[in-house]
Amino acid sequence: MGEGMDDRTVSSGNIVPIEPPVGPMLSLDPRRSVDRHAHRFNAMKDWIMVLKAADAAARWHVHQRRKGAAKEPYINHLLEVATLIAEATDGEDPNLVVAALLHDAIEDCEVPQELISETFGADVAGLVAEVTDDKTLEKAERKKRQVESAHKKSARAKMLKLADKTSNLRALVASPALDWSVSRRLEYIKWARGVAAGLRGTNALLENQFDEAARAAERSLVPTL
Ligand code: ZN
Repeated sequence: MGEGMDDRTVSSGNIVPIEPPVGPMLSLDPRRSVDRHAHRFNAMKDWIMVLKAADAAARWHVHQRRKGAAKEPYINHLLEVATLIAEATDGEDPNLVVAALLHDAIEDCEVPQELISETFGADVAGLVAEVTDDKTLEKAERKKRQVESAHKKSARAKMLKLADKTSNLRALVASPALDWSVSRRLEYIKWARGVAAGLRGTNALLENQFDEAARAAERSLVPTL
């Protein structure tokens, strides 16, 4: 570092690591350079955390594919749910985006909740746990409980579940499972609507996306005259 140079200066092609700001970070004022620095540092931390979660999800779900005939890699579903959440929250809730990427990790991959907590924090782990079904129960019972418990979830868990159901309904249109009859698909749409009824009142954008996906799923099965 040259003499008298600011410690954040980029020189000779080397990018100087951004160091955490000192002191409390409440009420940042973007006109102050130290606050700009803090803002940049926090934004960078969020980006890295989200990308690490995508990386972890890709590793954990590596052998899993969607049920549809296209057999899409499962990570596509996780990225779609995370994108829906990022859009619906204007990028203001990075932990919820991370939880979206990891929302099926406990249920499908038996990733211990503690591992998620150690790696991504207790808030993320708690959110993932909140949207995880109890796999010791029969499938029919699990589905029933999703309908019954939806309205009791936290606002953030409701958003996550709504985005998840939206992605699943879209997949039903784009690539239905080969062994799903029409009646099974209609039943799924009806059940998803039942769960979504308990998730309303939290995020209008996600609700609209869900409604549109449900209508498109119905339209894909019932020709309009
Ligand atoms: Zn899911």
